[in-house]
Amino acid sequence: MRLLIMGPPGAGKGTQAKAVADHFGVPAISTGDIFRANVGQGTPLGVEAKRYMDAGEYVPDEITNNMVRDRIAEPDAEQGFLLDGYPRTLAQVTELDGMIDATGHQLDAVLVLTVDTDAVVGRLLKRAEIEGRPDDTEDVIRRRLEVYAEETEPLIEVYATRGLVVSVDGMGDIAEVQQRIFDALDSVPQS
Ligand code: AMP
Repeated sequence: MRLLIMGPPGAGKGTQAKAVADHFGVPAISTGDIFRANVGQGTPLGVEAKRYMDAGEYVPDEITNNMVRDRIAEPDAEQGFLLDGYPRTLAQVTELDGMIDATGHQLDAVLVLTVDTDAVVGRLLKRAEIEGRPDDTEDVIRRRLEVYAEETEPLIEVYATRGLVVSVDGMGDIAEVQQRIFDALDSVPQS
């Protein structure tokens, strides 16, 4: 199973990504988590990425693409993967197409979590208190939502044209949303 999970910041992608990935027995690959791990370890990649992340901006495509290419080449991703937070730009869509083509497989579905924007801001502010992420201040949250609307939301249409989008209402408690996702994805044929 090769899946993407999309939705605005705060839609609950990370939480649901892990459950869905477990369900299908594939790794959940979160570019945000990989960047944060690198920031935490102070690697050159982390130092570079932090500048953008702290401002709510996207890390440049070239850096992100290379990181994803390396990650999906790992043995655990051979049978499939769920990408969380990638692709986020049109250029990343093209790169990912090339990466998947090269494996002789195809993307099976793009799961889109739909949420109410006001609720999302509330969720992010709450997470900021709990996790203390430096990119969860109110200004940065606003910027991240803006960048998402400008750069990433249009990708849903691109994948919809390919007939890959599975839209699920992301509002409600975690278990409820999870059940909706499983119901929606279980009818998707796996390549
Ligand atoms: P996330 O945890 O998915 O919200 O990602 C946190 C931050 O990491 C984002 O606000 C971006 O700065 C950076 N990031 C994660 N994924 C990408 C991506 N696909 N392209 C560019 N930047 C990304």
